[in-house]
Amino acid sequence: MTFTLFPDTRLALARDALAGLSVGDALGSQFFVPGRRPADLAAGRLPAPPWQWTDDTEMACSVVAALGEAGRVDRDALALAFAERCEPYRGYGPGAVVILRMIRTGTPWPVAAASAFDGQGSCGNGAAMRVAPLGAWYADSTRRAADQARASAEVTHAHPEGIAGAVAVAVAASLAARARLDGGRPEPARLLGAVAGALDPGGELHRGVRRAVALLGHSAAVAADALGNGSRVTAQDTVPFTLWVAATHLDDYPAAIRVCVEAGGDVDTTAAIVGGVVAAYAGVGTPGGVPEGWLAAREPLPDWLPA
Ligand SMILES: [Mg+2]
Repeated sequence: MTFTLFPDTRLALARDALAGLSVGDALGSQFFVPGRRPADLAAGRLPAPPWQWTDDTEMACSVVAALGEAGRVDRDALALAFAERCEPYRGYGPGAVVILRMIRTGTPWPVAAASAFDGQGSCGNGAAMRVAPLGAWYADSTRRAADQARASAEVTHAHPEGIAGAVAVAVAASLAARARLDGGRPEPARLLGAVAGALDPGGELHRGVRRAVALLGHSAAVAADALGNGSRVTAQDTVPFTLWVAATHLDDYPAAIRVCVEAGGDVDTTAAIVGGVVAAYAGVGTPGGVPEGWLAAREPLPDWLPA
């Protein structure tokens, strides 16, 4: 079924996903502070605000701003936006800082992205961590979500698995936002199956998402153990588990974020990905959505982001 999605609706869906992404990022990163215990969150004891967001949110804001301005990804403009807005203290990985500095000083992005990791390109989780709002923007087409996610990824991530991570997250967010518009929650296995169907069957990401389907119904600890929790900061080690969490807790944002915090690993990024996908479905300030109090505790988003 095709339908018309007006620009305001696209932006509203993307903004909700961005709210979920940024709150997940900001709350998740609180658990790198010594003395913070996941059990506190489970018991309802929240860290004192403000919760500062990190690179995940900074880059996602550039993605949303780019879509708002042009209605699609212009790779040259997006690469420059990532590079010029990068505040290194936001927790960017060393590889990302180098690529973004090269772009900022005039190296074309295809050259900068391809130079990473001795010419293999990055398969880090950075393209996946920023892309959920783009998926929500394309709630009307998983194919467009996948194409545009690829474009948004390749300006920094030349490795096929780094790009596949972004495609997988964007397709999941597209399906989540579509389900919200249609008013019905997708079965976890169907959601993950559709994501797997958008990926190269020969790739590691595809294998990981298939494995995530097989692990539905198991505990989060078992899933994280088998799929990874992002501690290697690769797309392959991050995305399958995050999609398992999002599919399992699509109607319960706080529960989804708690699972990320309890699983450990690259928590700001796992919670950013999960938060973006879940909020594309569950919304903000709604039952099961991003709690208003959590949103208020998050550091305000950058002022260059259009309202
Ligand atoms: Mg981060």
